[in-house]
Amino acid sequence: MVATVGVTFGHMENGYSGLHRGYIEGLAAAGAAVQVWPGENVNISGVGSAAKEMVAGVDAVVLTGGGDVNPARYGEESVSGRNYGIDDVRDAFEIAVVHEAMSQGKRILAICRGLQVANVALGGTLYQDVETAGFADHSRRDVEYDFAHEVTSPAGSLVARIFGEAFPVNSLHHQAVKVLANGLVPTATSSDGLVEAFEAGGLVGIQWHPERLLARDPRSSALFEWVVG
Ligand code: MN
Repeated sequence: MVATVGVTFGHMENGYSGLHRGYIEGLAAAGAAVQVWPGENVNISGVGSAAKEMVAGVDAVVLTGGGDVNPARYGEESVSGRNYGIDDVRDAFEIAVVHEAMSQGKRILAICRGLQVANVALGGTLYQDVETAGFADHSRRDVEYDFAHEVTSPAGSLVARIFGEAFPVNSLHHQAVKVLANGLVPTATSSDGLVEAFEAGGLVGIQWHPERLLARDPRSSALFEWVVG
């Protein structure tokens, strides 16, 4: 039977909804049938029951890239000018999806914003802007489809089994994990000390963009194969 994977995404400021085609291509190549889940598809007052039913109807979930999580979700004021694309409905929906997928035993691949949402959903916090927090620029749009910086990964992790213990990634984020949620194990770290991946059972969070590296680094497809199962 074909595995079905629910893929979240959000709206863009031009009125369209946006999902990089690499997510679909990576999952399709891994044998999945994809359901796309725009956050706007749910009524925020019914977000919990919608997420429960939607997760029950799939075999796994992919949380994709996008705008910033509302800092109120982790108990901070928004630093003026350093948050963009905040979407409270998408935040609520994806946080509910994380909890539902974990309680229903479904795998989650959480990419970029997805990693940040999963960390916040489980009680962690974020740097609202890594550069002003003293880290290097990780918003490397100039190398969206190529390598921007190195990460290291502990032996035995899923990430290390796929990519090795030191490898290059792209980097299209300006936020990152500040306090990692209890129960999450960091499994990739950038040379300047940011969490670039974490794992916990059926949850894998990836701060870089494997959907944009399928051609440059074919190992990226193994993440989509993992979530399809
Ligand atoms: Mn990075």
